Amino acid sequence: MGSDTTTVVEASGAALTALRSEVAGPVLARGDAGYQEEIDGFNSLSPMAPDLVVGATSEADVQAAVRFAGEHGLEVVIQATGHGSYRTVDSGLLIRTHRLDAIEVDPEAGTFTIGAGARWMDILPRLAEHGLAAVTGSSPSVGAVGLMLGGGVGPLSRTLGWAADRARSFRVVLADGSTVVASANEHADLFRALKGGKVGFGVVTEVTVEAVQLTEVYGGGLFFAEEHIEAVHRAWLDWTATLPESANTSIGILRMPPEGVPEPLAGRTLAHVRFAHVDLEGDSASLAARGAELIAPMREVAPVHLDGVGLLPAQEVGTIHAEPFGPLPIWERGDFLDPVDQDYVSTILRHAGAGVPAPFANVETRFFGGAIAREPEAPNSIGGRQAAFSLLVVAAVVPGLNDEALPVAGPALFDDVAHYAHAEVNYNWAGHPTPGDFARLWPAETAERLREVRAEYDPDGRFGFGN
Ligand SMILES: Cc1cc2nc3c(=O)[nH]c(=O)nc-3n(C[C@H](O)[C@H](O)[C@H](O)COP(=O)(O)OP(=O)(O)OC[C@H]3O[C@@H](n4cnc5c(N)ncnc54)[C@H](O)[C@@H]3O)c2cc1C
Repeated sequence: MGSDTTTVVEASGAALTALRSEVAGPVLARGDAGYQEEIDGFNSLSPMAPDLVVGATSEADVQAAVRFAGEHGLEVVIQATGHGSYRTVDSGLLIRTHRLDAIEVDPEAGTFTIGAGARWMDILPRLAEHGLAAVTGSSPSVGAVGLMLGGGVGPLSRTLGWAADRARSFRVVLADGSTVVASANEHADLFRALKGGKVGFGVVTEVTVEAVQLTEVYGGGLFFAEEHIEAVHRAWLDWTATLPESANTSIGILRMPPEGVPEPLAGRTLAHVRFAHVDLEGDSASLAARGAELIAPMREVAPVHLDGVGLLPAQEVGTIHAEPFGPLPIWERGDFLDPVDQDYVSTILRHAGAGVPAPFANVETRFFGGAIAREPEAPNSIGGRQAAFSLLVVAAVVPGLNDEALPVAGPALFDDVAHYAHAEVNYNWAGHPTPGDFARLWPAETAERLREVRAEYDPDGRFGFGN
């Protein structure tokens, strides 16, 4: 697949006409009006230029697109929001799933069923109508299915685990265009693979997920001025060692843009301590009291520039990390880490601390452990479960400002913390993965099992491997 595909599509005008009449959504070839708009997503640096893009409006559209790809030897690439589109795609067929955004909540069963294009920002308010919530990632604009396929760890995960741990079933369009349901009882090997195995199985059109009975948390973010970054970062690391499983936290060193953010933050370099205390049993008063007690040591480290920690409706957990909605020209690299120490903090400060002209928007360390590290009853394929921390470095690429610095400064930071790297890095953190990163996505045994499942369900390698 690959180099000959343009000619295949060009030569098959009649087949393309047939596809267009079969598919209700747009079917656009390179050069067609509307082609670029159909491809554009969260990351405006996405190097996507497939031969064809199909904007699916139904599972039948997905099936028709996959069959067409099979008949014409095209690789299939899948995109919902574009939060994870890093890989150069210069041929093949892209299926956009963002129109498959149905959300159905079943309060009796305590589950919700979502289409491939549903985002957390749309799902959480629907769950909240029934006093329910979900395990999400940090950003509400991320696609729920894409996140879950990688595992999905977020602002409440030390208490509630991975998003994929709560998946009950997936509907998947396979390489031959047929649809199967994968659950604990049907296609159990595929079900296990989809929970963390991420790529190379098919197009997920629908997922049913177990919801969490949760209406509020005690959480938010503390911002500290640049001169306190070192004290806050060092205290944060010591503080994590004292935290119970109900407490979730990460720390970011943020370089805020001069515009487009609240005035007290604009143009500043800040430490941002993110926090959420989760209690599935207590009432608001006990939640707030215990939460305030847990975060108190961080409030006392230095004067707080902006304090946004308090009782928070569960549907607003996406505000804890305060991530941008895009589209943005994003450069990103991440890793999973073993336990870190104050030398790690020194290294981060040397690359991104106060007074350093760093090209990064955010250098974030998340604290893992707790329910993140616990194996669920139903087996899955999540890589990196036992990591102690994660590191994520993000930048908005601005030509003339940081575009030349990033390719040097980014790898230099990661080289200097390489000795803390965990055996595995989770797929969702592998932004622009090096071949070395790919080799670390899963434990060897899981990687081998995933290879076998891919060979069974996608024997010709129709579905692309890579972000
Ligand atoms: C700002 C930001 C914050 C993030 N925060 C977190 C976080 O807190 N926790 C976390 O775990 N991850 C996080 N991520 C990573 C994110 O979960 C992954 O990039 C995820 O793949 C995004 O899914 P998407 O559908 O939004 O993106 P897309 O770019 O649309 O999809 C990414 C990939 O997911 C797969 N995919 C998507 N939909 C389907 C489908 N229907 N069927 C089969 N494959 C599919 C495909 O391989 C596709 O290439 C974050 C990313 C960003 C940019």
